[in-house]
Amino acid sequence: MNTTVNELEAAHTHLDRGSPRWRLKAACAGIKNPDIFFAQPRVAAHRQALALCQQCPVRRECLDDAIECGVRDGIRGGHTEDQLREIVSFREGRRVEIERVRATLTNTHRPRLTDQEKMSVVRVALDAGIPIDTWAAALGIGYSYATRRRRKATTQLDVIPASMRSEEIALAAKLRHAATTTLVVAA
Ligand code: SF4
Repeated sequence: MNTTVNELEAAHTHLDRGSPRWRLKAACAGIKNPDIFFAQPRVAAHRQALALCQQCPVRRECLDDAIECGVRDGIRGGHTEDQLREIVSFREGRRVEIERVRATLTNTHRPRLTDQEKMSVVRVALDAGIPIDTWAAALGIGYSYATRRRRKATTQLDVIPASMRSEEIALAAKLRHAATTTLVVAA
């Protein structure tokens, strides 16, 4: 007997209601213990849920859906709650003028940056391989604070899908390959 969308949703309670077709292919469709997707980190059930996601053929669709719906609870698309929160807050706070980020890193002028744009400067700098001293000077911050920003940006780079960072990635590629890039060297 073919499994219907409704039957899958009845068992697949950790996913939101609605019935896109991709859910028919979900590795977690119909599992008996959906609670594993809400288990505490570092327990066996948590690892089991992540392992299931790793082999799921619709992981990308699941993650996109979670981001689109602003899901912050439970494991979705192979991402933990913390990672989902990072992605969702990135998406919600995304008001970055990429030109201002470029101007900061190339020292063409010193625009006033929002906090989101400052983090964008750090992510682009990390992507482009710009040394910490250089981008810290561009932001006018000290080494200690810069290391904290770097830690946060590294976490974001690990979890935020590239499709949400296309402008940053393109800018980083230009900075990386521009032989004559003029980067700020002093605050
Ligand atoms: S990625 Fe994980 S949570 Fe999403 S459908 Fe697949 S197994 Fe389920």
